[in-house]
Amino acid sequence: MTTTVQSDSRTGKVVLVTGASSGIGEATARLLAAAGHRVVLGARRADRLAAVAEKIRADGGTAGHHELDVTDLESVRAFVGAARESYGRVDVLVNNAGVMPVALLEALKVDEWNRMIDVNIRGVLHGIAAVLPVMREQGAGHIVNVASVAGHRVDPTAAVYCATKFAVRAISEGLRQESRDLRVTVVSPGLTSSELTDGISDLGMRAVAEDMMAIAIPAAAIGEAIVYAVNQPAEVDVNEIVVRPTAQS
Ligand code: NDP
Repeated sequence: MTTTVQSDSRTGKVVLVTGASSGIGEATARLLAAAGHRVVLGARRADRLAAVAEKIRADGGTAGHHELDVTDLESVRAFVGAARESYGRVDVLVNNAGVMPVALLEALKVDEWNRMIDVNIRGVLHGIAAVLPVMREQGAGHIVNVASVAGHRVDPTAAVYCATKFAVRAISEGLRQESRDLRVTVVSPGLTSSELTDGISDLGMRAVAEDMMAIAIPAAAIGEAIVYAVNQPAEVDVNEIVVRPTAQS
């Protein structure tokens, strides 16, 4: 387990980002750091995290990283614990880690269904379980969950992926209704440049998905939306943001 969290005296929010080794999570971490927040990056590929954190520090930001598997509650607790130990608090958790191995249901890729449930739903719940006691104790906090336009509509080949993203929105709305001291934001990207389609095992489906990505917007477009929500005053809770390419149907 890699644990590297750098401290300094800056006063920006302490923001944890899961899935920060590539794509939307990486872009979000960079933008949050550029906005003055102290970021802690989590994902399984520790070498990639280290490189992103190093680049943020070279650009004058404050960043640390911690190896993380969101499917493992103890791993998520260790991620949150390392950040808290270093900075004394956790202001924001961005539950961004996700996988999207789309395929027709009749292909019976049951292992991939379970993987999507484990990462996209259980991973988000593990994040909530790890930070909720900390935020309740602080009397403040912000949980940003990355869903998808697939959490607003269902398309063929994406039934399970869509189900996981509908679940993220349901969990987020439930958490929001139960909370008077926490802010809860759901950010739903449309087609966005990242490594997400690399995980599609069906090569025909992957080719279709890669074709669709021709109109994808940069990951930073989603990161900017997250920075906007994070930077609102404490009494302002931005609940839902959908950001998709202009050309997406
Ligand atoms: P990427 O594949 O580039 O990023 C996914 C991130 O999740 C990686 O950093 C990966 O890191 C991490 N991850 C995967 N499994 C785990 C795990 N078990 N534990 C910890 N981290 C994990 O794709 P995106 O940036 O596109 O995806 C980010 C989020 O955006 C996802 O939730 C996705 O569903 C959502 N989204 C993306 C869209 C798009 O078009 N790109 C559209 C709508 C939503 P590592 O492999 O190092 O663990």
